[in-house]
Amino acid sequence: MKKKILIIIALIMIISTIIRTSLVEYSFIAFAKQLILNQTMLIKDILYEVINKEDYLQIIKDSYAIEDIKLKKGKIKSTQININLKQKYIQIITPFNSESYLDIKYNAKDYFNNILNISIKLFIIGLTSLIIIIWIVNYFLTPYLEILENVKKSTKEISKGNFDKKITTKLKGEAKEFVNNYNKFLEDLKNSFGVIEEKYTSLIEKEKSQNPLEDAKNTISQLADIFKFKKVIEEDISTEVVLNRLIEIIKKFNIKHFALFGIDNTKKTVIFEYNEGDICCDIKDKQEFCRAYRTKNIIKSSDFPNICQRHFCKNSYICIPFSKSGNFTGILKIMDIEHIDKDTIAYIKAYLKEVSSIVESKFTLELLHNQTIIDPLTKLYNRRFLENILNKIIANADRTNQKVAFVMIDMDYFKKVNDTYGHDVGDMILKHLANILKSSIRESDIVVRFGGEEFLIILNNIKDKECLFKTLEKIRKKIEEYEFKIPQGKIKKTISMGASLYPDTCNSPWQCIKNADIALYKAKNSGRNKIVIFEN
Ligand code: GH3
Ligand code: MG
Ligand code: MG
Repeated sequence: MKKKILIIIALIMIISTIIRTSLVEYSFIAFAKQLILNQTMLIKDILYEVINKEDYLQIIKDSYAIEDIKLKKGKIKSTQININLKQKYIQIITPFNSESYLDIKYNAKDYFNNILNISIKLFIIGLTSLIIIIWIVNYFLTPYLEILENVKKSTKEISKGNFDKKITTKLKGEAKEFVNNYNKFLEDLKNSFGVIEEKYTSLIEKEKSQNPLEDAKNTISQLADIFKFKKVIEEDISTEVVLNRLIEIIKKFNIKHFALFGIDNTKKTVIFEYNEGDICCDIKDKQEFCRAYRTKNIIKSSDFPNICQRHFCKNSYICIPFSKSGNFTGILKIMDIEHIDKDTIAYIKAYLKEVSSIVESKFTLELLHNQTIIDPLTKLYNRRFLENILNKIIANADRTNQKVAFVMIDMDYFKKVNDTYGHDVGDMILKHLANILKSSIRESDIVVRFGGEEFLIILNNIKDKECLFKTLEKIRKKIEEYEFKIPQGKIKKTISMGASLYPDTCNSPWQCIKNADIALYKAKNSGRNKIVIFEN
């Protein structure tokens, strides 16, 4: 900056000196020319008067500073002036009369020396004034330019997050005031940014960035998104919905190779699993082998060679456990982390932090709820659950114009099992039966443990009575052929079934159940291991 100003001043001074010198030289020569021309005219006038012109020419040559003067024969049209700078003379050739002309060479040594002297003086004056002006400018401008220079350096530091680069000046008055205000602004900025940084780093564990201001902007924007996400998942209906939302977030970070697991710690089973690409490990039914699950620590491939022995490929990874202290543990495994920005991992960890507490409480509530609606022995829904959904099932059937079958199932001569092998074996058989029933129906159908060894199956979308019979016959046969494993060996059992079809033979859910029970009674009475479909 300073250099530029000084160069510009020097250039202006040099150019103005050159112009001034040229002007002086030009006017000097013009003046000399005019003087010589006047003198020539005078000589001419005198020469016209005198008779012996040659003699007079000699007189003139001696009296004036004339090197040579000749009256030459010949004709010229107009007066010519030649300036010879090298030999330092001025030649005038001017018409004298119709046959002759005058050729005068004036000695102009003094003129030219004068011009040179004046040019040198002008140059020295120019140079001196240039030095003086540069010195003055330098002296007065430097402190102001220094302020500008320091502000430039200081703002550069601000962009790197350093607010300590204060500026100083020896100047007083407005400049001093400006410097003080600037330093105060820096101090305020440092305090405010310090508070912001402290707050957001407590929420997101990030490394210091090269560009803290930009970083703060991004982090705060991420925090706002995380806050919105938290609000949404707080109102989500289930753990599953929350985990699915988390998957969407991970995908939004452009992570294409990852897996998310949800583990029920009370039953030690994987209850949620999502894979995007091959994640080089399988923790389903083997979650106790998962290092992140077992240690509840973040496991990174970069921590130690072969840190997780269950990871069977060379790709890098990070396994982050979350919601790990209670009934639920989530594990997020991200593959190929060398391609993922460190900030992205930090943001994802911040999301997991929010998910943690919410998933934990949701999952615990689900567990409690399940305990009230799920039969602990068979893990089937109980009667309480049935009461809650019956109306919904009927409403859905009415809306879609579909038929629903209510099927009551009772094991034949079950008392005998208890009496012969004991109550525990009886329980074992009930569990087996529940599993067979569950695996024999569609995902959309429901099995309920209705009472002791009585089960209710609700089958959606049944075409007609014949279809229903075929479906039930398959189940009946399956059980008839099944060998129940008990400590004493294997036993075979049969079931009886009574069914009713809504809306063909009943018009309310409880009436359908009652009719199914009547049909079951008929099945029992007609010899057991039978299917009876209720008819009006
Ligand atoms: P059938 O139905 O063919 O008429 O004969 P049953 O011997 O099966 O007679 P019923 O259905 O009336 O008997 C039900 C028996 O099931 C009575 C009860 O001791 C037994 N039971 C009910 N709940 C359980 C249970 O949770 N565990 C065990 N082990 N037995 C149960
Ligand atoms: Mg029975
Ligand atoms: Mg019974």
